[in-house]
Amino acid sequence: MNSRDPRYDILFEPVQIGPVTSKNRFYQTPYALGIGPHRYQDMVAFRQTRAEGGWGVVCVEETMIHPTSGHDPFQGPHLWSDADIGRVAPMAEAVHKYGALAGVELAHVGSSGPCWEHRGYPLSPTANPVRLHDNPIMTKQMDKRDIAQFRRWYVDAALRAKKADFDIVYVYCAHDLSLLQDFLVSRTNKRTDDYGGSFQNRIRLLREVLSDVKDAVGDRCAVAVRLAVEERRWKSSLNTREDGRRVIEELAEVPDLWDVNVSDWAWDTGSSRFFEEGHQEPFISFVKQVTSKPVVGVGRFTSPDAMVSQVKRGILDFIGAARPSIADPFLPNKIDTGLHDDIRECIGCNVCAAEVMNQTTIRCTQNPTAGEEFRLQWHPERVPPAGDPTRNILVVGGGPAGLQAALTLGKRGYQVSIAEAGENWGGRIVRERSLPRLATWGRVVDYRLALLQRMPNVQMYLASRLSAEDVLGMEPDHVIVATGSSWRRDGTGRSHDEPIPGADAAHVFTPDDIMAGKPVSGKVVVYDDDYYYMASALAEKLAREGNTVTYVTSASEPAPWTFKTLELGHVVQALLAAGVEIVTGTTLTAIEPGRVTAQRVLTGHSITLDADALVLVTCQNADETLYRELLERVEEGQLPSLDRTGDCVAPAFIAQAVRDGHRAAMSYDLPKDQ
Ligand code: ADP
Ligand code: SF4
Repeated sequence: MNSRDPRYDILFEPVQIGPVTSKNRFYQTPYALGIGPHRYQDMVAFRQTRAEGGWGVVCVEETMIHPTSGHDPFQGPHLWSDADIGRVAPMAEAVHKYGALAGVELAHVGSSGPCWEHRGYPLSPTANPVRLHDNPIMTKQMDKRDIAQFRRWYVDAALRAKKADFDIVYVYCAHDLSLLQDFLVSRTNKRTDDYGGSFQNRIRLLREVLSDVKDAVGDRCAVAVRLAVEERRWKSSLNTREDGRRVIEELAEVPDLWDVNVSDWAWDTGSSRFFEEGHQEPFISFVKQVTSKPVVGVGRFTSPDAMVSQVKRGILDFIGAARPSIADPFLPNKIDTGLHDDIRECIGCNVCAAEVMNQTTIRCTQNPTAGEEFRLQWHPERVPPAGDPTRNILVVGGGPAGLQAALTLGKRGYQVSIAEAGENWGGRIVRERSLPRLATWGRVVDYRLALLQRMPNVQMYLASRLSAEDVLGMEPDHVIVATGSSWRRDGTGRSHDEPIPGADAAHVFTPDDIMAGKPVSGKVVVYDDDYYYMASALAEKLAREGNTVTYVTSASEPAPWTFKTLELGHVVQALLAAGVEIVTGTTLTAIEPGRVTAQRVLTGHSITLDADALVLVTCQNADETLYRELLERVEEGQLPSLDRTGDCVAPAFIAQAVRDGHRAAMSYDLPKDQ
């Protein structure tokens, strides 16, 4: 077994948090899984896997203290009544099995939840429109009786958390998603009584709840505060950095731990397109100077050197992680055993957050097993051994799906060959990682390649475009086709059932053309009927190369899917900064030399845009030719078995390709339906 690099010893020091002690400095902070309360076993398995992977603290997400608190339709765990204890307790028990501390983030979401499920009234310090989405309802302004009741709910939930055997109980005041933050921030608190107005009044409820919870459970449980020390929002110029510091100064020694970050979620969970590793440091670095209590913070930390630096420079006591623990549950154990080069580093794409926004089970681009720990019993490190390790399996295509299939098959012990037509491994990522802000996505390839190249049972062939005859000539026992997809050229897509007239003109390009380096110049229209990152990334690239770019989309807002990845506001700012003009709610009707005609979706009005070049970002075609040809050979008995995976089945996210590559490799020889 490898041993730990002594440079990283400091990360494995125990740290005391009030009455409990963490075995190391790796702290899986609370984050949502998108799993409703009907699937507690999935939550248990997810958290248990992180504890198994070596995290010293493993926390459960926002756990609602009362039915008036909810982000409906998003759902998660709750501790509304004693009847809930038995459902939540297995998470603490599962975490304890591996010697980790279990934390629970008790929360009331105040005016950010519409209370649909409860059918009561959402609560807030001052009557306000509910903030989540476009709910056209107001909150109820809490009176003194409501405030007293709220304090009781917190205490009752904390006592339940203690009964459920949690070690760390949170008081939640962060992300612009908390009733306590509603009270704290003058933007949302316009009260004139002793809970509003002055800073001392606005902090009063946080102070009271903290002291109530400490009195109730502080003998055995550590009490943590999760606090947004800074508010950053698109619509507001409000700067709470001063207030954030004052909160910590006022309550410095009261909680047993400070879990600090920047609100709102789009700034805390910043994607790699817009935020570097450790991006919160400028906002949280003061905290340890103000309190002697341990401090945890996040920053998409995947590098052990960056982690050590945080500790040594006195920024953090605990390395907090949400996404790095999703992408690699075994990150601490890998550092501990000298395998830090094998960390499956988060790429910062925020597909995990998007799944939560969709209220579907969490998934991860890098880690195909995330969210499948219970349902499919997939483990992030262990795979079932090959039924017959002498079997030769051929994977055709070296994109994310093919690489993942080869990796999982290689780990299972099969004799694997993987062939790629291009000069480089990575498929779509070879092209996409060179687009503005997407370089970090290259980790999907780099991680897999590094492992595959060390596997003696895996043979890798570049510059090898295989025909059906080539495949048969290799006499494989099983073939997995992973030939990917290409962007459509004719404009067909979600807004266009038929090709756009004129789409066959020479000045019309696809994303593949632009990424392959085909030259465009002058006035360029980039048309987005796809709604995710491609069109905005191309528009920014072309504008930065000196073109006059107009981004046109059929959607009512630019790149609308990036709302789910918490990037929308950042995307718009990046386009504006690059000088791109944005035209929303508009479809193309005809393409002519030098111009396109377009139509407003809602009004039907026609407009004309000058265009020396047009880039159509509509949808993709699966490349299934080889699969179809090989299927015939299977039916003729010339090939024993065949599967296909990834974009050649149906083009989708990289996360889907990786997940499906793993599925293809896991289901070979195993009866279980994956
Ligand atoms: P996915 O996301 O499903 O992995 P990609 O498009 O990223 O799909 O990757 C598919 C890869 O398959 C591309 O790199 C492409 O060059 C390769 N490919 C396509 N057809 C063949 C073939 N006949 N032989 C070998 N490689 C192929
Ligand atoms: Fe990181 Fe993307 Fe995985 Fe989320 S989905 S943990 S951002 S790699």
